[in-house]
Amino acid sequence: MADLLERIRRPEYTGNDRCWPCTIANGAVLALVAGGLVLLGRRATAAVVTAVGVAAIGLRGYLLPYTPRFAPRLVAALPVDPIDRDEPDSLSDAEVPVGTADGDAPTGDEVVAALLEAGVVVPRGEEFLLEESFRADWRREMQALAGRNLEGLAAVADDLTPPAVEARPRRDWGRSSVVLDGPAGLVSLSEAVAVAELAAARALESRVDESVRLAAGRPLRSLLERCPLCDGELAVTQSACCGEVTPIGETPPEKLVCPDCDVRLFTYE
Ligand SMILES: [Zn+2]
Repeated sequence: MADLLERIRRPEYTGNDRCWPCTIANGAVLALVAGGLVLLGRRATAAVVTAVGVAAIGLRGYLLPYTPRFAPRLVAALPVDPIDRDEPDSLSDAEVPVGTADGDAPTGDEVVAALLEAGVVVPRGEEFLLEESFRADWRREMQALAGRNLEGLAAVADDLTPPAVEARPRRDWGRSSVVLDGPAGLVSLSEAVAVAELAAARALESRVDESVRLAAGRPLRSLLERCPLCDGELAVTQSACCGEVTPIGETPPEKLVCPDCDVRLFTYE
């Protein structure tokens, strides 16, 4: 029996890697089918279908094949978004041009060039590494910010961003975030991203221009080794489920996550 269960089980779609949109979409379809059978007077069949369906969703993560393809649309119609499926929002999304001569926010390449020039990151072969003293400063700032409550974190964001941007704390569905309300619209930073990027901006204060400081959080986040919230080790995972439908023959994007806090820090292209 245990052997059979092992063969049915799909660990890549269950546990931590469970895709909630798929689970919800499959549950909804199952409920519709079972409800239809009951209406047709086929209660016994409905009971069997429900039992098999619940077991399949539980063990395999989904019941219907190809949900990864249609579930995103179904889920987009739901009033809540149960997962964050794209690259997390960043301070740099608030598009706040400050201190630059032409008033434009620096491009990604300009930010990386500035970080290299300041010696904040150092090239090593094809990769970039954090410079040691910056790594230590950044980690110290993250630990200081992680000890604050959400209101305190929003206050730090308000201080660091230009006056045109209002920062406020927000809690919904068990997720804490700092919302930036400014000229670029609403940007919602998850608590982990807010701690990482605001701490980076602080650690960069004596090292780079103000315009680069707020934009540097996104590229720097890709180099994180420890969780901004719990200081635990981060892991790189792949997810191929819905919301991230991967064309056949391509590998799904890799994500930098904290398994303990269940937060995503970066999505590698
Ligand atoms: Zn963590």
